[in-house]
Amino acid sequence: MSGKRISREKETISKMIALYETQCPQASRDPGHYQALNAYADKRLDKCVFGEEKPACKQCPVHCYQPAKREEMKQVMRWAGPRMLWRHPILTVRHLIDDRRPVPELPEKCRPNNKA
Ligand code: SF4
Repeated sequence: MSGKRISREKETISKMIALYETQCPQASRDPGHYQALNAYADKRLDKCVFGEEKPACKQCPVHCYQPAKREEMKQVMRWAGPRMLWRHPILTVRHLIDDRRPVPELPEKCRPNNKA
């Protein structure tokens, strides 16, 4: 089960993807595409090494997304981000606050010189 921060991020991402989907021609050609992208993002959040202390993904030193998915998510965020404020103002403000969180230190198990 996700904590508040991860749940909030999942909700934000889901709304951004839904918004983006409304204007994307690919959505009608492949209706499951954005559902799969959303499921992928949820899975990354569930496995995030920082857990509830996670930084904004765009500032993350780990970058756990596959490169193609990362690019696609960047595109979604770039388009949907400015439009979110009018449709989901509270969620957007929370997201902007979360985005300003400092990047925490990498957990021990993720550090390059970890021999465990
Ligand atoms: S990119 Fe970083 S912050 Fe985002 S889910 Fe992956 S590990 Fe967590």
